[in-house]
Formats: sequence, structure tokens, C-alpha cells
Amino acid sequence: MTPAPQLIIAGGGLSGSLAALALAKRRPDVSFVLVEQGQSFGGNHVWSFFDSDVAPEQRWIVDPLVSGKWPDHQVNFPKRSRRIALGYNSIKSERLDRTVRTSLRPEQYRLGQRIVDLGAHHVTFDGGDRIEARGVIDARGVSTLKGLDLGWQKFVGRTFRFERSHGSSRPVIMDACVDQQSGYRFVYTLPFSDNELMVEDTYYSTSAVLDATRVRQSIDDYVLAKGWGAGEVVSEEIGLLPVLLGGDLASLWDPSEVAAARLGLRGGFFHPTTGYTVPDAVQNAALLTQQRDVSGPALHLLYHRRAAALWKERSFYQLLNRMLFRAADPDQRYRVLEHFYRLPQPLIARFYAGQLTTIDKLRILSGRPPVPLRRALAAVRETKS
Ligand SMILES: Cc1cc2nc3c(=O)[nH]c(=O)nc-3n(C[C@H](O)[C@H](O)[C@H](O)COP(=O)(O)OP(=O)(O)OC[C@H]3O[C@@H](n4cnc5c(N)ncnc54)[C@H](O)[C@@H]3O)c2cc1C
Repeated sequence: MTPAPQLIIAGGGLSGSLAALALAKRRPDVSFVLVEQGQSFGGNHVWSFFDSDVAPEQRWIVDPLVSGKWPDHQVNFPKRSRRIALGYNSIKSERLDRTVRTSLRPEQYRLGQRIVDLGAHHVTFDGGDRIEARGVIDARGVSTLKGLDLGWQKFVGRTFRFERSHGSSRPVIMDACVDQQSGYRFVYTLPFSDNELMVEDTYYSTSAVLDATRVRQSIDDYVLAKGWGAGEVVSEEIGLLPVLLGGDLASLWDPSEVAAARLGLRGGFFHPTTGYTVPDAVQNAALLTQQRDVSGPALHLLYHRRAAALWKERSFYQLLNRMLFRAADPDQRYRVLEHFYRLPQPLIARFYAGQLTTIDKLRILSGRPPVPLRRALAAVRETKS
């Protein structure tokens, strides 16, 4: 019989996989098992991050996973286009899956095993099997978001392989020169090669409903308008990410629930405006490798405290999100971002990394607001009822 591992990592998505890869590389003394319900790790995603999102000393965690890498990127608005000399990187889930399978030993992972019960020291699978450990990390992705005040970032991304070169060499992370429907809308493009391009149509909307058929059509219209010619769709991703307008972390870390540590979306480790989790997932994985005590209670305390500190530190983003969603009319929301992109590049980098300073915050709010003043002030004053 295999001895019980010290740790069970529940969920082989982004956060769980990064934690397992980091442990395998830097802490061979810690035995663990990574459990995923799907037949592969990471699902079906392209995850991206800016160079400034990941500290140089933590790049070892993500570098082996990067499938696309660019030295700069672009944003386009009706009244402002800007090339930003800040590196951009993308991770494809196929590469994450391959890396996990080749980096972990067979006894360190289980695929196709759905957890139906999870406690501080055990998980039970739907077939009834149970494994025990000194600690459990719950990285099973989003659970309940009840009690949080949310807007939504929803999108469909399609990767095309064109018959000829599309001619784009850098990521356009926001092309807001498109019809503004259902809130703030932009198209995001990632040139993976000369003829391969991901085109993602994104909406910052108050509604969580996504009409994927209509959005696919909008993407096809965009491709046609750009003159990229005929192309085959080689993959597709659909996303619905929370945009935090207000609410309490206790909605995610309910003190009455089992004391398993939480990572990723499940632990509230996401950027309040973009919904992105790569920066926090990398930092949390690095932190895990530095722990002497990897028992359940110790990890629960570690990550709960960290989630609470980040929640507090990032409350300013909730204010910005309320400005975006509540102070601006839906078809004028793009102006908030257009206005934001007047700011210096290091500040923009810190915004995405979730590391704004007090001076940054003052600079963001300075100048004539791009939304009606009365409504901007109401958004500042507003707290969740
Ligand atoms: C399409 C898409 C694109 C995104 N792009 C970016 C991006 O570019 N940059 C960025 O930073 N963020 C991005 N995000 C946001 C965020 O990074 C992802 O949602 C990320 O995958 C969240 O990581 P996670 O580990 O919390 O959850 P997930 O990656 O969703 O992982 C959870 C895992 O747990 C497994 N699981 C769930 N329940 C069980 C169970 N009962 N038993 C066993 N296994 C279970 C799931 O199958 C899944 O594999 C994107 C999200 C989506 C949906």
C-alpha cells in the first residue's frame, strides 16, 4: 500500500498545478498528490501575464510553461493608441498539462478522479475511495460567489490558423475601437505565429449571461473587417470572470467550513478588475515551497491571512470597478480605460500586478474624471448594503 502523502492538492487547474510543480522542483522532501477530475491538467485556457506580474526570482515557476512571449503590447481606443514596452507572455493549457505529466512522478498525480467530499485531512472520490494526508489544499476553482457584489468579464476567444500571414506582430490587449455593446467591449488579439492568431471578444457587463453564438459571429465579423482572409478555427475558450465591486472575503473563507487551505479563485486570489490569477498563483506556489510546516492548519492560516491582507490592500480596485460599472453609462465605460491609459507605464504595470502605491492611486483619480462627477462621487461613497 502507498503511504499517505503529506499533502493533497485538490484541483489540477492553474493554481493547483503551479503549486504541485513548484513543490516537485524545490521541495522533494514533501510528498503530495495532485488530484484532478478532468482527463488533463489545466482545462482549456490561454493564461497570460505581463513580465511585471511575476518577480524575476519566481520566473522559474512559469518559464517552462510559456507558449508565447512578446517584448511589448498595444492598446487601441477611439482617442488613444499606445504601444507599451512591457513584455507579455501566454501559457496554453496543453503545455501546462504536458509539463505536469512529465515533471511529476506517477504517484504524485491522479487524473479523472472527482472529489465529492473534502476535509482538513482527507478527500473522498465519487467511487467511494478516500485518501488521507496531513494537509489538504483546495484549488478546485470557483465555488460560491454568493455575498459578493460582482460585475462580469465575459468572453469568447477563438484561435485561427490563417492561410496567409495576418501581419500582426504584437498582442493587442484591448482594441476598444469596436461597437460598445453590453458594457465595455474590446477585442484582444494574440499573434502566436505568423499565421496563427487568437481573437477574443470581451465584455465588461453587469449580466453573467454570454451568448456565445452571437459573440462567435462578432469575432468572424472582426476578422473579416481586418482583412485577415480565410482561416480555420483551431481552438476556442469561453470565460466568465468575476469583477469585484464589493463584498467580504468571509464569503469565500467561511469560518464554519472545513479548515482546508484554499488557492486560486476558490481562495479569493484573483485580480479584482481583470479576474486574472496568474500573479497570485505564482506567488502562492513560491510561498508554499518556503514553508517548513506543511500541515493543514499551518497552510490554512498562511493562505487565509494572505487572502485577507490582499483583499484589504486591493479594496481600491473595487472602487475603480464601481466607477466603471456604476458611474459610467454602459456604452461610455471604455472612456474610463482610455483615461487610465494616459498614465505612465510603470504605474500601468503595478496596476495589473495588483501592487499600486498610494501615489499611484492618487494619480489614477487625478484630473477630470471621464464619468459624470456626481456619479463618480456616489461610486466612491458606496459600500455594499
Ligand atoms: C478562458 C479563461 C481565460 C483566462 N485567462 C486568464 C489570463 O489570461 N490570465 C490570468 O491570470 N487569468 C486568466 N483567467 C482567470 C483565471 O486565471 C483562471 O480562471 C484560472 O484557471 C483559475 O485558476 P484556479 O486554479 O483557481 O482554477 P482552475 O484553473 O479552474 O482549476 C480548478 C481545477 O479544479 C478541478 N476540479 C473542480 N472540481 C473538482 C472536483 N470536485 N474534483 C477534482 N477536481 C476538481 C477542475 O477540473 C479544474 O481543473 C482565465 C479564465 C478563463 C475561464
